[in-house]
Amino acid sequence: MTPLMNDGFDGEPAKRVLHYMQGAKQKGKPIAGIYCGYAPIELVQAMGIVPAVLCAFSKVPIASAETVLPANLCPLIKSSYGFILEGTCPFFSMSEAVIAETTCDGKKKMFELAAEVKPMHVMDLPQLPDEAEALENWTVMIRKLQRFLEKTFGRKASDQDIETAIQESNRKNRLMRKVFDFAAMHPPVINWQEMYDVGFLALPSTFKDMDAIIEKVLAGLENRVAQGIHYGTQRSPRVLVTGSPVGGDALKIFKIIDACGGLVVAPDACTGIKGFLGEIEENTPDPVAAMAKRYLEIPCACMTPNGQRLAALSRMIDKFKPDAVVDFVLTACHSYNVESYKIGQHVNDHHGLPFLKIESDYSDNDEGQIRTKIEAMFEMVAR
Ligand code: SF4
Ligand code: SF4
Repeated sequence: MTPLMNDGFDGEPAKRVLHYMQGAKQKGKPIAGIYCGYAPIELVQAMGIVPAVLCAFSKVPIASAETVLPANLCPLIKSSYGFILEGTCPFFSMSEAVIAETTCDGKKKMFELAAEVKPMHVMDLPQLPDEAEALENWTVMIRKLQRFLEKTFGRKASDQDIETAIQESNRKNRLMRKVFDFAAMHPPVINWQEMYDVGFLALPSTFKDMDAIIEKVLAGLENRVAQGIHYGTQRSPRVLVTGSPVGGDALKIFKIIDACGGLVVAPDACTGIKGFLGEIEENTPDPVAAMAKRYLEIPCACMTPNGQRLAALSRMIDKFKPDAVVDFVLTACHSYNVESYKIGQHVNDHHGLPFLKIESDYSDNDEGQIRTKIEAMFEMVAR
């Protein structure tokens, strides 16, 4: 397969993003660290600040984190904090401040500790998205973030700057969705690693920077279609993977599905397709409120009730036509773990598809067990 991004970094998304960040820094752009899909990156970009997704997906720094944090905590939180303690996340080192949100208990308590190392602005995320006050409260939180960024970075953004960033972000996300369309094909023309690589760079990058890159990726995909190049066969089991964010050492779930002969056609977590769905309404009298509305629609399991996740999942199933759904839940992530029951019911009852919950962490000692479960599921969907 010809690489979709011909820049020498294929399969090494962190190196590619580091290269991008170093270039931005050289051009005098400040960097703000982010951890979560709720960080309103359009506001950050409107202020000429580059949002950097911080390291959180390696098992290596977990031992250091456990000298402070309890061991029975989600690996994503332990890894994030371990990177901070060890000083090994280049994106954290480059960031002048960090934007955080009150998504889950473990994370928000870890942020208190991280605030001792770097200026940290924690946004109070409303978690009852259907309540009338939720939108107003989240809009206030985004405005407070704006003031924090103004003070910390000495930069300002007018409503027009924010509107421009929103429109650019919408355009970038539309282009990204075109990339994912190639995974909806039978058989798919793009694999999970390529989707992950493009998404990893696209998430923090401005539209201006990503435009040409995504266009090139799309041309490469069109070219594959023209030449009849694709992944797997018509008979390969197609899998939608939902649940906790997947990256770094957690990518084992995608690798095992691959190794069992499956095709991950829809990586639905925040590190996959979810970050590029939806549109922020354009040309409204209040672009910050428009942004708040879109972000509150993110179907994270920290929300309750989270009917929007079921609706989003149904749309995803209708589009990518998986043969099975895997719910990947990081150990000790209570919100995704409890919600998994409802997700399973929804997948079975509304879509008639097999559903498999995999609860795991960043270690590799359960790979054999996971493999056995995936193989058993594939036997059920064999065509
Ligand atoms: S799963 Fe939820 S908490 Fe985690 S990054 Fe996504 S939006 Fe944030
Ligand atoms: S995976 Fe779950 S527990 Fe871990 S940081 Fe995300 S929401 Fe919190």
